[in-house]
Amino acid sequence: LVGRELKPENTVVRVGDVEIGSGKLVVIAGPCAVESEKQLLEAASAVKKAGADILRGGAFKPRTSPYAFQGLEEEGLKLLNRAKQETGLPVVTEAVDPRDVPLVARYADIIQVGARNMQNFRLLREVGLTGKPILLKRGMAATIEEWLMAAEYIVDAGNPHVILCERGIRTYENATRNTLDISAVPLVKELSHLPVIVDPSHASGNWKLVAPLARAAVAVGADGIMVEVHPEPLTALCDGPQSLNPNNFSELMQSLVPIARAV
Ligand code: PEP
Ligand code: MN
Repeated sequence: LVGRELKPENTVVRVGDVEIGSGKLVVIAGPCAVESEKQLLEAASAVKKAGADILRGGAFKPRTSPYAFQGLEEEGLKLLNRAKQETGLPVVTEAVDPRDVPLVARYADIIQVGARNMQNFRLLREVGLTGKPILLKRGMAATIEEWLMAAEYIVDAGNPHVILCERGIRTYENATRNTLDISAVPLVKELSHLPVIVDPSHASGNWKLVAPLARAAVAVGADGIMVEVHPEPLTALCDGPQSLNPNNFSELMQSLVPIARAV
């Protein structure tokens, strides 16, 4: 169902007024995690001002350590709704457990399935049943075929609104958090009709690499990018080292304009 053979034309996923896969670059930005009303509203107004199309923010966080900040859960979803009312930006947020999907679906415009859950088949079926746009991240050790098969679960459950997100894979290289598989973008766009976006923040783990990787993603034809932005990255409860501050995000946005025009 996700292959180009049966459906040669590109799938365009619509979220409010935003179209992902239409040929116009879509930018998703916001903090890794929703931490407080002040933090989220500051991040939301900054990314909106810089020209972002969609706000991101995790309310349920899949953390490596059980002692790390796990997210504000429903309180975080309510804050996302506040930020959406104030800025007009649609919101994307992650569901980590099939049992939370109905709750997340009530607040989210796009439901994210994270890298760690790419092959959580119950979760894939459950988000498929919502009919909402789904942002499916590539598993950190998943092949392109496994990633497309995960998307197949969602579409097979009756939900064709899937956006694929390359976010870096595990390799022997440990100078970066992950290795951005840039060739996955044009390759997956050839194999599948689904839109493909890139997350340079989780791919690099280092805010200094985020802008160059984002520009590379746009240059190879990504339909969008997803970037972590925090009003004060040094105080972030999650992924501060890879988060851009509002100034750096605004500079990145300006630098993307001529590249997006050229592709
Ligand atoms: C995230 O987007 O905050 C996240 C947890 O990403 P990933 O699943 O790609 O690690
Ligand atoms: Mn993160």
